[in-house]
Amino acid sequence: MKILERERAVLERYLPGLDTQLAQVPLRELESPETPGIKLFREAGGAGLVIPSDYKGSGATPLEAVRIQRAIGSRSPSLAVATTMHHFSISSLILVADRGGQEWLLLEAIAGQRMLVASGFAEGRPDGRILAPTMTATASADGIRVSGVKRPCSLARSMDLLTASVLVPDTDGGQQLGVALIPSTDPGVTVTPFWSSFALAGAESEQVTVDDVLVPPNLVVLTGAVDSGRLDEVQTAGFVWFELLMTGSYLGAASALVERALTLDKVGVDERLRLVTGIEGAMAAVENIARQVPERQQNEHLLADALLVRYAVQDAIAAVVPRAIELLGGLNFMTGDDIGYLAAAVNGLGFHPPARSRMAGSLIDYLTGSTLRIV
Ligand SMILES: Cc1cc2nc3c(=O)[nH]c(=O)nc-3n(C[C@H](O)[C@H](O)[C@H](O)COP(=O)(O)OP(=O)(O)OC[C@H]3O[C@@H](n4cnc5c(N)ncnc54)[C@H](O)[C@@H]3O)c2cc1C
Repeated sequence: MKILERERAVLERYLPGLDTQLAQVPLRELESPETPGIKLFREAGGAGLVIPSDYKGSGATPLEAVRIQRAIGSRSPSLAVATTMHHFSISSLILVADRGGQEWLLLEAIAGQRMLVASGFAEGRPDGRILAPTMTATASADGIRVSGVKRPCSLARSMDLLTASVLVPDTDGGQQLGVALIPSTDPGVTVTPFWSSFALAGAESEQVTVDDVLVPPNLVVLTGAVDSGRLDEVQTAGFVWFELLMTGSYLGAASALVERALTLDKVGVDERLRLVTGIEGAMAAVENIARQVPERQQNEHLLADALLVRYAVQDAIAAVVPRAIELLGGLNFMTGDDIGYLAAAVNGLGFHPPARSRMAGSLIDYLTGSTLRIV
């Protein structure tokens, strides 16, 4: 048994050949804006990974999905982050389809035609609340007309569809929160550069501008009340999937450093084992959430647990990664970019919504008897 063997075996079962292909490309190339990773993922059939077989997908369970994200993250952190955004979008569509919606048609198309779905949910604006969209929508005879800007939006250059959070006008003059599905080929959709960091540049997190695009009613999924902080069941499940897969992805990146350090004979076995217990303990916590997803994904208590685990994993990564780098030694650091790159990339977990300090008050309130609020 080798570290990451279990995760890579699941990846191989669902997306045969992808791990070998990713392992053959230098990390620097996989993490560059010109990455071949997203294309390889699409060709391997990744689009349908978590789509149930009833909707013509591969039907990976949440537990398998989180292991796959860890395996992919150990080869290409950018690809794991980018594909998390795809699976996150898909997870909400599955729930709506399971409730009798027409979204099954779309899911079958996504799996069959290997379409990639980007998600513009958190706008990446300072102090922006994730449940308060910046996209605007106006009612028209044939649906809604959507305009606005999403940045960063991972998969921007490879997406076939964009899922964008919007405020949907209703018939009595009010507004409801919803998700509009917008084809990337619409002439009103443009992609311009946004991401200027070397870290995670392979996730294609660029700016997507939507200019007066007509979205028919069957491509608008209503999700919940306007920015009350309270989540409906679809939003709750979406967040659970998001936190889970994103956490698994960055654990994969951290695991890549631990994997490198494990083979260093000159480093004491007790030091090497400490790295493994840190990272595997964190993964076990993530897997505990993943195992509960099929039964409890719409339950706010599972989301609260998922958030607590995610923040705990941030701390585990912060403890393990510097130790792994120190053990790997200066020569490993100096003679290539991989170690320094992974050390930078793992910090991305802290930048995904909802930020820990933003949620602190809400989680303490929840743990002392209140309902969970996402702020
Ligand atoms: C690799 C990557 C890919 C991404 N891809 C996408 C994507 O595809 N689609 C998408 O929509 N978004 C995406 N994002 C954007 C991301 O989801 C966030 O929107 C963005 O990182 C938020 O920026 P921020 O952390 O500066 O903002 P802020 O949330 O303002 O946080 C800045 C700091 O202020 C603190 N802070 C903020 N508010 C409070 C408060 N009320 N109380 C206490 N402290 C507070 C935070 O804890 C944090 O330390 C991506 C981000 C990354 C890193």
